[in-house]
Amino acid sequence: MSTASVSAASSVLLPTYARAPIALERGEGAWAITADGTRYLDFGAGIAVNSLGHAHPHLVEALTAQAQRIWHTSNLYTMPEGEKLARRLCEATFAERVFFTNSGAEANECAIKMARKYHAAKGHPERYRIVTFEGAFHGRTLATIAAGGQQKYIDGFGPKVDGFDQVPFDDETALKAAIGPETAALMIEPIQGEGGLRSVPVRVLKQLRELCDEHGLMLIFDEIQTGVGRTGKFFAYEHYGVAPDIMSIAKGIGGGFPMGACLATEAAASGMTLGTHGTTFGGNPLAMAVGNAVLDIILAPGFLDQVQKTALRLRQSLAQLKDHHPDVIEEIRGEGLMLGLKLKTLNTDFVAQARAAGLLVVAAGDDVVRLLPPLIIGESEVAEAVARLDKAAGAVGAELARPAAE
Ligand SMILES: *Cc1c(COP(=O)(O)O)cnc(C)c1O
Repeated sequence: MSTASVSAASSVLLPTYARAPIALERGEGAWAITADGTRYLDFGAGIAVNSLGHAHPHLVEALTAQAQRIWHTSNLYTMPEGEKLARRLCEATFAERVFFTNSGAEANECAIKMARKYHAAKGHPERYRIVTFEGAFHGRTLATIAAGGQQKYIDGFGPKVDGFDQVPFDDETALKAAIGPETAALMIEPIQGEGGLRSVPVRVLKQLRELCDEHGLMLIFDEIQTGVGRTGKFFAYEHYGVAPDIMSIAKGIGGGFPMGACLATEAAASGMTLGTHGTTFGGNPLAMAVGNAVLDIILAPGFLDQVQKTALRLRQSLAQLKDHHPDVIEEIRGEGLMLGLKLKTLNTDFVAQARAAGLLVVAAGDDVVRLLPPLIIGESEVAEAVARLDKAAGAVGAELARPAAE
């Protein structure tokens, strides 16, 4: 049986995903190609993961060279590639300490544990609660679904992990009321990804920093989706002049190789002493080789300037697209190459129509379509994507205009 003929009905995978009926077999830059040669312009990038597109020669070279040396050693031994990547991450950010993980949720688990341990090590184990924000997404482990606070992810999995207090997105009074003697940290995505590309106003981010300073709290930024060049800066917090104490990263840092990291100031990490945390795979040499290769490109002079230029062009084209399809598109949202089309209808049809037009995009919330192209796209990919979005919007608009079936 060819991979393309595996249907949902015959699959033995847990049916937790509504998978599109295409199997992507190979990729070249911003293009993903099925076994029968159908080419898709990939503006989903594996949900903001393939930051440098598919089969980038520098990443392929780094991974295959490492694969011929050694694959895995565990954290029982010194890892030069990991030391190097951690140092580079610190030099390019607010951070002074790094812990490598395999995924975003694990990076957040580390961030949550670190914030709690910070207070416990100072003699305040009662300060373990973390304030999070409505619409958040922090992962699918038991703690991170509690942090995200979305009932549909929490229901049926036993008692919700204690210690998370959720407040509305932009509500100063509720936020202040949620901070108490047991609060350890505030945790937020600077731009909500899964929640629908909602940007936290700069004024709110600045206020979070002030509140953390005033109450001795840790400020945790979840930059798993916004990070590693996605918004046109290395990390989104650089746009706002507000630095966190702890930051989780993943997705784009591996360029497609599964990895994540928790970054922190030395003070924030001070409770994470010998034996307090661990991982078998985190910091694996293959991941570290790819992570270093991703940074070679993203931190090269001029790369992020180019991302910003491309993003501006895409955004301008999307504004025109919105004007052409006022019946379908309500608003353009987001920052850099993390953009969203807020629709006047559900997003599932739009994603399918875009795919039919040869463009891969990702749904967010109920009515937002995310564009998360590889950061390496140029003018031609922007023009091609907008032409395909125009087709998709036209098809969705035609559906909307049809009188409802009797
Ligand atoms: C994807 C994502 C996560 C979870 O990452 P996984 O690698 O799926 O565990 C957490 N937070 C944000 C903001 C994300 O976008």
